[in-house]
Amino acid sequence: MLVKKFRHVVFSSAILFSGVLTVSTSSVSAEKPEYGKVAYQHTEYLSEKIGPRVAGSPNEVKAGNYIFNELKQLGYQPSKQTFSYTRRGTTKTSANIIGTKISKSNKLKNNPQIIIGAHYDSVSVGKGADDNASSIGVILETAKAIQKRELHYDVKFVFFGAEEEGLRGSDYYVSQMSQEEKDRTIVMINLDSLLAGDNIYVYGSPGEDGWLRDLALDIAQKKGIPLGTNPGINPDYPQGTTGDWSDHAAFQEAGIPIGYLEATNWEIGDQDGYTQTVKHGEIWHTENDNLAFLEKEFPGRVETHLSQFTEILIQLMSDIKKVQ
Ligand SMILES: [Zn+2]
Repeated sequence: MLVKKFRHVVFSSAILFSGVLTVSTSSVSAEKPEYGKVAYQHTEYLSEKIGPRVAGSPNEVKAGNYIFNELKQLGYQPSKQTFSYTRRGTTKTSANIIGTKISKSNKLKNNPQIIIGAHYDSVSVGKGADDNASSIGVILETAKAIQKRELHYDVKFVFFGAEEEGLRGSDYYVSQMSQEEKDRTIVMINLDSLLAGDNIYVYGSPGEDGWLRDLALDIAQKKGIPLGTNPGINPDYPQGTTGDWSDHAAFQEAGIPIGYLEATNWEIGDQDGYTQTVKHGEIWHTENDNLAFLEKEFPGRVETHLSQFTEILIQLMSDIKKVQ
């Protein structure tokens, strides 16, 4: 990624300095919106002001209420889907927070919808900035950006509780979906851990259901964003796909095509996407998962990743045209 990124910087500068910047190349001009700023504020609030958000704890509730209020302010008429589960003999209560955008242009017969989701809980170690305040930030910035936009499908933003205790929120959400809702969901896009990893990735379902990955890669290429996919070095996780360790899993299991955005490094450690960085190994689930550490050890990475993922997700909202 460092090499790609360096080449991109040189390329952009060459265009700007050679004076050939025209309307057709405006995507690399200084007029570009500053993606990631809003995402950063939410990431900071969740990880610094609230801190660790363990499933079933008061802090998880605080984070859920924060997201609920943000969605309300943006006009998404949020709802709270409460659920309970038992783990190691203890019964806990958590909740999914859901915001819905009904598109007036959605006059298509099968009324398609897309689901964008991420978990807002964290483990007790660290502050859960990378895992997973970052994704909440990117989704809330996207929700703000597309608030008044007319799309050809409905959008449901689902913020899952209790992911870290066994994907509880997403499992529960899928268990409560009607067949009608499953049928009209053309894709579920999961976001998890966007800040720390050396490289930025998009994954998709195997086969034809992997179209969201290919669309995201195409968007990134046009924008000069160094988004890649799992190279498939490890035969357990074929190229372009990933494992079932996050909130996309239940949706994929239900036959819904998925996309998944993440930052990590598939070329190191056990080449299973778990070792995120060459410099410090894993960041998630360690005390290093906080903004101060990430900004000190990886200067510019937090802002760059938030900006890149937000720009890609917002562009996806415009470019998703596939209707089953
Ligand atoms: Zn996570």
